[in-house]
Amino acid sequence: MDFANSRVTLMGLGRFGGGVGAARWLAARGSRVHITDVSKPDDLREPLEELAPLISDGRITLRLGTHDEADFRQTDMVVVNPAVPRPWQNAYLRAALDAGVPITTEIGLLIDHLPNRRNVIGITGSVGKSTTSAMIAHAMAATERPVVFGGNIGGSLLESIDQITADTWVVLELSSAMLYWIGLTQRWSPGTGVCTNLSPNHVDWHGTLDHYASSKQELLRYQTADDVAILGPGLESWAGATRARVVNAGDTRFDGVLKIPGAHNRQNAGVALVACREAAPQTSAEAFASRLATFGGLPHRLELIHERDGQRFYNDSKCTTVSSLMQALDALRDPARGTSHIHLIAGGYDKRVSLSPVAHLAPSLAGLYCVGKTGPVIASEARALGTGRVFECQTVQRAAHAAMDAMRPGDVLLLSPACASWDQFPNYEHRGAAFAAAVREKLER
Ligand code: ADP
Repeated sequence: MDFANSRVTLMGLGRFGGGVGAARWLAARGSRVHITDVSKPDDLREPLEELAPLISDGRITLRLGTHDEADFRQTDMVVVNPAVPRPWQNAYLRAALDAGVPITTEIGLLIDHLPNRRNVIGITGSVGKSTTSAMIAHAMAATERPVVFGGNIGGSLLESIDQITADTWVVLELSSAMLYWIGLTQRWSPGTGVCTNLSPNHVDWHGTLDHYASSKQELLRYQTADDVAILGPGLESWAGATRARVVNAGDTRFDGVLKIPGAHNRQNAGVALVACREAAPQTSAEAFASRLATFGGLPHRLELIHERDGQRFYNDSKCTTVSSLMQALDALRDPARGTSHIHLIAGGYDKRVSLSPVAHLAPSLAGLYCVGKTGPVIASEARALGTGRVFECQTVQRAAHAAMDAMRPGDVLLLSPACASWDQFPNYEHRGAAFAAAVREKLER
């Protein structure tokens, strides 16, 4: 489509950079971009600030706090945010379709403009997507060719599309919702497709688990015999969903040096190594392994933010479930001391799931510091156990400071909340940043 003088409606600006990237890219091509989002301007402060110059010169117009059907009918294209749930039931998208208006997504626009599908490594899965994708992007530098990394990780690669040549490795983390749209509108698959694993998730968006799994399979659906599909644990039966050569990487573990802890990360690195080897067989396994050895981890996922006198400080703010918390504790478990050297900060937004397992950790920890809306519930259940050091601290800052007063040499301070952050923060990144700031503040005193 020629975008010059076109009108494009962007549905759902979002806060992760995809909407901003698409709006800027379209405006730069001469589109008049109309952004509509049910969120209020206050909730979209950061992305709106990024677009301020384009809004003030009239190239971008806004309808916030509501949608209007006319915006979806009287336009040349709709670019929908993949986070919009159950799009097949959405009355506004239906209005666009009925009026013959094409619908795409930011990731769809990107795919339409990528020069070489064969050099794309697409990664999906229920957990470990971001880590595995980031490991692959980091390790592919061993090929001495340019690498870009984008998709569900945040931001938008559209803005660097001019730097992507047929030789560039494009590492794309893809969510099930993105893949649903790619299957519908692009019917496209990458040269290398990686699925890390599958567990029940996002049924709120998809409606059923079958729909979730089948959306993820879109990653492999349009591959050809020259392509490769790498399947994580439990996905052997997916071989039938692709025409590509299949590599089962379910039992693969990376046994080289890794900076980031945890058995799950050895598995992620194992899958990442297989993906790199399959995508670029001319580069040696050793070259990829030595890149993996320098991978420092992603922000807010068991991220080592500070180390001092044998004390370590980990920001795992992305941990919003009990099972993620258990994994973090396993990763930091000491063969001699178990978890008795760990000061844990947990609690947050109330998703109405049982947090008893968190309370029951108290006796085996150096301290349990409870925060947020669920803090009092966790603390009172933990105290009822009769042993363990339990503190109800309300805020992450107070929790971090209380824990740091109690820490001994060799101890670990871990923010791994097992709850979402929305009771006190706009998102988990802000929560992680507040934790890092509190640690820094105390260390500098
Ligand atoms: P995603 O992008 O799929 O949400 P991340 O790489 O951000 O996944 O990891 C999120 C959390 O999921 C981690 O903090 C960890 O608790 C858990 N996790 C990561 N990799 C795995 C894995 N291979 N198997 C099980 N759990 C994992």
